[in-house]
Amino acid sequence: MSAFSKILLLRGGGRHYSAAAQTQLREILGTQLAGIKDAGTFKAERIITSSQSTQITVQGSEKRILNFCANNYLGLANNPEIVEYSRTLLEKYGAGLSSVRFICGTQDIHKQLEQKIAQFHGREDTILYASCFDANAGIFEAILTPEDAVFSDELNHASIIDGIRLCKAKKQRYKHRDLADLERQLRESDGRLKLIATDGVFSMDGNIAPLARIVELAKKYDALVFVDECHATGFFGATGRGTEEYDNVMGEVDIINSTLGKALGGASGGYTTGPSELISFLRQKSRPYLFSNTLPPAVVAVGLKVMDMLLASSELTQRVQSNTQRFRTAMTKAGFTIAGENHPICPVMLGDARLASKFADEMLTRGIYVIGFSYPVVPQGKARIRVQISAAHTEAEIDQAIGAFIEVGRSLKVIQ
Ligand code: PLP
Repeated sequence: MSAFSKILLLRGGGRHYSAAAQTQLREILGTQLAGIKDAGTFKAERIITSSQSTQITVQGSEKRILNFCANNYLGLANNPEIVEYSRTLLEKYGAGLSSVRFICGTQDIHKQLEQKIAQFHGREDTILYASCFDANAGIFEAILTPEDAVFSDELNHASIIDGIRLCKAKKQRYKHRDLADLERQLRESDGRLKLIATDGVFSMDGNIAPLARIVELAKKYDALVFVDECHATGFFGATGRGTEEYDNVMGEVDIINSTLGKALGGASGGYTTGPSELISFLRQKSRPYLFSNTLPPAVVAVGLKVMDMLLASSELTQRVQSNTQRFRTAMTKAGFTIAGENHPICPVMLGDARLASKFADEMLTRGIYVIGFSYPVVPQGKARIRVQISAAHTEAEIDQAIGAFIEVGRSLKVIQ
């Protein structure tokens, strides 16, 4: 107990007031939690008792189930070579740095990872963060002033929305992937710097930003392009370089933010990669970088090993793409509507929220782990099951999932 708490306790008053405040807090939050439960939007967490993989076990059952809802696109989350390398660097460099980067938290491996990521994307430099949420939270406020303007797709990820909220630039939202709306706003803007911000791939729909045409507009109106590539880096585009590769504009995006917590090993960490002046400036000004602990060595090791693998071969990238095609083609042929384009996020559109939830439950009884998404995560009446394909799924596992979808789809009269 701290000296301050002891004084409060001796005086007898402090405890009393803090207990009342805590009771009030519990009441306020309890009421809101009950509201969330009533609305059917309470998010319960299923507890996994194995490593993240295509086959997992969950608490309360010994049975292995097939996992189709992780962002483990390349299947590297429990790759033995990566885990072994991570163990080696854990032993050599210790558990962590107990410091932010600029005090005494930069090791040679942090610099190596930053260089490898820059090499992978063909950029000048990279800055690491604890997460991509931090990278998105830290960039707009650091570089944009009230003289500047930022143009954001209305369906951008929450971390981009929050990051933009923190900055003082003029904030403009354009309609989802609507180039006419974006162009109108760019034309009318008198911003000094104009920055267009978009997700490369939108994770609820598996649809893609029209990047080539965004880049064209940026050139026409002298704007910069920022892309969040969390659902693209490592596996989207012919060699996994992401949306700019997919849309044939390699190297034309000004700023890329992405994550180490999805395809790239699934541990954690995020980054910004781009021009060297930008990266140097972020090291001076970006608050989540300046005021938060360094990425731990075991996590850096995962990124290093994954980067080596991806720089050497695109085999896994090709495998996730062919698995995706197999799933999308067979499901469409069976009569399902799959949203998005060519992406391993395959939303099976069902419409009704209760149907989506029942469908997911029925899939689980057949050993397939998928999740139903409904309002407010997706628009009302657009409930779906979001299937995510991995390079680690075998063709037999993909076919097993398709078979279960067809069986449940027929029994629930979604397809004939
Ligand atoms: N951006 C997008 C598009 C995401 O999907 C996510 C994760 O859900 C993030 C940013 C945040 O990434 P991280 O988990 O590294 O914080």
